[in-house]
Amino acid sequence: MKLYTINTGYFKLDGGAMFGVVPKSIWNKLNPADENNMCSWALRALLIETDGRLILVDTGMGDKQDAKFFGYYYLHGDDTLDKSLAKHGFNRDDITDVFLTHLHFDHCGGAIKREGDKLVPAFKNAVFWSNAVHWEWAIQPNDREKASFLKENILPIQESGQLQFINPFEEGDKGWSAYPPGLLQKDFIPDISVRYVNGHTGAMMLPQIKYKGRTVVFMADLLPSAAHIPMPYVMAYDTSPLITLGEKRNFYNDAVNGDYVLFFEHDPVNECCTLERTEKGVRVKEFFRLEDL
Ligand SMILES: [Zn+2]
Repeated sequence: MKLYTINTGYFKLDGGAMFGVVPKSIWNKLNPADENNMCSWALRALLIETDGRLILVDTGMGDKQDAKFFGYYYLHGDDTLDKSLAKHGFNRDDITDVFLTHLHFDHCGGAIKREGDKLVPAFKNAVFWSNAVHWEWAIQPNDREKASFLKENILPIQESGQLQFINPFEEGDKGWSAYPPGLLQKDFIPDISVRYVNGHTGAMMLPQIKYKGRTVVFMADLLPSAAHIPMPYVMAYDTSPLITLGEKRNFYNDAVNGDYVLFFEHDPVNECCTLERTEKGVRVKEFFRLEDL
């Protein structure tokens, strides 16, 4: 197996929304805001080459919306999905699977592109993976998440016939209530399992990859950046922040005990870290790049 970092650029989000109840006097030192209170965040995808498959985990936000939309989100930087794939000798048509952690625009926007007046899959040979619980959640969004679940990113995946669902539950499973927060985990393919979390949005999927004798976890929006590691640093976007707290706590137990490698999708500086327990709580043990693992 090989893992590759796929940078697709940076975007901006309101610093207050990203840091929830943490005051600006504190978070501004961690990710300094611009004059509009916006902070830069990475759109970092992960490419997994294994057993003849090429699996892309999340896609960045894509570029098909209008100038008004990008006026809110400031897509910037030199990296693009195509450039990053090319750096490792791949192109879009090589991708066999697109694993979507969830369907917020900054995670799945790149899955669908505009071709003339049609919206079509940006990866014509790929299966797109989601799950039925999250799909239902996303196509009938609540009013707080509506601006993040964009129809043009989601419905064309289904219309293409390339969508498949991963099932979190097997015959006889009792459902979410049987699992403490963040502890429902199921195998996806050999060496990759999925951890399900519900605090950010319904049934978000975090891939956990066995790699070089370690466990690499794609953090998606459970921990968007290393700055979010201390417990109260929960995004205001999260639909159930108290559930996120429980998921962080349970994930940290596994991550510290198993010396997991955390891979950050949105951290503007740091790609990966490990965790350790300190008297202040769980904190970063070591930062590094994926390619240095
Ligand atoms: Zn999200």
